[in-house]
Amino acid sequence: MSGNRTFTMIKPDAVRNGHIGAILKMFNDAGFNILAMKFTKLSAEKAGEFYAVHKERPFYGELVEFMSSGPIVAAILEKDNAVEDFRKLIGATNPAEAADGTVRKLYATSIGENAVHGADSDENAMIEGSFHFAGTEIFG
Ligand code: GDP
Repeated sequence: MSGNRTFTMIKPDAVRNGHIGAILKMFNDAGFNILAMKFTKLSAEKAGEFYAVHKERPFYGELVEFMSSGPIVAAILEKDNAVEDFRKLIGATNPAEAADGTVRKLYATSIGENAVHGADSDENAMIEGSFHFAGTEIFG
């Protein structure tokens, strides 16, 4: 059975470009409730930890540098079938391939600077949510 929570970040490019409000409205309009949210900034060390699964990929260094280059918004979202529906809402990793009307089609500038993160499984949604919100009420 699919879960009802996912984890997202509005990435530094979208924050810098003034798209926080528009992107959060898209989340709400698509039926996602915000269960937890914070405006924060990742150190290079923390960004490296978050994306450790990509350590061997050629773009890892670039990704860590980008994700620690400015503030982000981290949030836990709730909706039926949250992970899959959210991945549909944000669109393909590369904005050039993202479907019309998706967040990345509208707001991403490149495959690296692609405006938003969305967890890719229920398990990762839990792990990533806990990475940012452990110790808060939502995680006990
Ligand atoms: P996602 O699940 O759609 O976010 O995509 P992936 O898990 O494949 O990659 C994680 C993140 O790494 C992406 O969202 C991008 O920010 C970044 N990324 C992926 N591919 C590339 C690439 O070819 N170049 C660069 N610079 N960044 C990339």
